[in-house]
Amino acid sequence: MTQDDWGAVRAEIRSAIGASNYKNWIEPLALESIGEGVAHLDAPNAFLGDYVSKTFGDQIIYHLNRNGAQVQRLSFSVSEARAQTKPVTTSNRTDAAVALGGGKDPIKPDQRFTFDSFVVGKPNELAHAAAKRVAEGGPVTFNPLFLYGGVGLGKTHLMHAIAHELAVRRPDLNVLYISADQFIYRFISALRDRKMMDFKQLFRSVDVLMVDDIQFLAGKESTQEEFFHTFNALVDQNKQLIISADRAPSELRDLSDRIKSRLQCGLVVDLHATDYELRLGILHAKQELYSTIYPGVEVKTGVLEFLAHRITSNVRVLEGALTRLYAFASLVGREVTLELVQDCLSDILRASDRKVTIEEIQRKVSEHYAIRLSDLLGPRRTRSLARPRQVAMWLCKNMTSRSLPEIGRKFGKRDHTTIMHGVRKIDELRQTDSQIADDLELLGRALQE
Ligand code: ADP
Ligand code: MG
Repeated sequence: MTQDDWGAVRAEIRSAIGASNYKNWIEPLALESIGEGVAHLDAPNAFLGDYVSKTFGDQIIYHLNRNGAQVQRLSFSVSEARAQTKPVTTSNRTDAAVALGGGKDPIKPDQRFTFDSFVVGKPNELAHAAAKRVAEGGPVTFNPLFLYGGVGLGKTHLMHAIAHELAVRRPDLNVLYISADQFIYRFISALRDRKMMDFKQLFRSVDVLMVDDIQFLAGKESTQEEFFHTFNALVDQNKQLIISADRAPSELRDLSDRIKSRLQCGLVVDLHATDYELRLGILHAKQELYSTIYPGVEVKTGVLEFLAHRITSNVRVLEGALTRLYAFASLVGREVTLELVQDCLSDILRASDRKVTIEEIQRKVSEHYAIRLSDLLGPRRTRSLARPRQVAMWLCKNMTSRSLPEIGRKFGKRDHTTIMHGVRKIDELRQTDSQIADDLELLGRALQE
């Protein structure tokens, strides 16, 4: 890719994320090279690279590929000339299987996700206590431990924390953490490559197995079957299982009843939505961490309270907001005041302000495609109606906190699997079809206003 192509990529990103985001985050980057699916970017500091990777990584990759590059992931480094910081390499694949203890696998769980860095409050104290108990590595008392709760409430964090703790306390144990996505992927690869024996061997030789986000097994019947066998084999041997999902076992649709009842045999605990105290606690903990990384940045009292009060959606968004504040303040060398917060986080604040409803989305989409609302919601399945309908489904899934069954009900009593299918279809299309990608961008922005 030439520097001209990189210029084109940057221009596209600029129109996608807006001028001020562009100026703060993308402009300071330089494209060093692309090779073997990795784009190497030079950033002024590790913090900026880390933030850009998390926030705009997917978009950068998307636009690079649109302009002829073949890139699967980004690697950010800070050149000697710019700073004395070590390079950070970040991957957009967060679902890697993690083996510990007796494992030969060199991938380790996320270093940030430990019990030390987990802030305990009323909404998560039970889940935390249960995770702590399992992490002691003593005799198995409840099996499985089933953790559930909405997105960004700390399920993955707790599972990784268990893995860390077990690695220290019981290095003799073979601990495996895997996302359900990865489980499915490995299962399918094993089938394809005729390596089922290896697959079974791997999963049945572990002492502690954690499977994250098990809701993704929905509808995958043969994978479920294999999961069920693995599950039973391990429980029979009294090996600890830890499972997470975004909802309670009984509410997991498209999962066989045998599995559901098995999942309820152990201890089922949920992570509740955060409350103000917990959010503030988390922000204080983060502030402590950042004050060592950025000794120069001052955060005015009141700022954390403001954020804890205003950003109620989930912890990931809350953290993202604070991260951006620090990065911004360190770049421009300004104290973090409420005024700066309003400036720098206007999009996040607006998003948590505005509660978009399913009805608004349906109305906007029908206007945008110039079709009647009754047709959008009705039964006809011609492409000219089906595609906008799927776009609307996708927006409902991504812009509201409504569940798939709830969305289904509002789309002419459609089944939740239809909604899921629609959402997936659009997820695919937005990677390949720039018209759809533009529509989503435009509609998303219009709905935020
Ligand atoms: P989930 O898996 O439930 O979607 P994660 O475990 O990925 O959520 O958490 C999202 C982000 O929020 C992570 O960066 C995590 O460290 C942070 N987080 C969530 N809950 C807490 C908590 N109680 N204390 C500290 N950080 C938290
Ligand atoms: Mg998770």
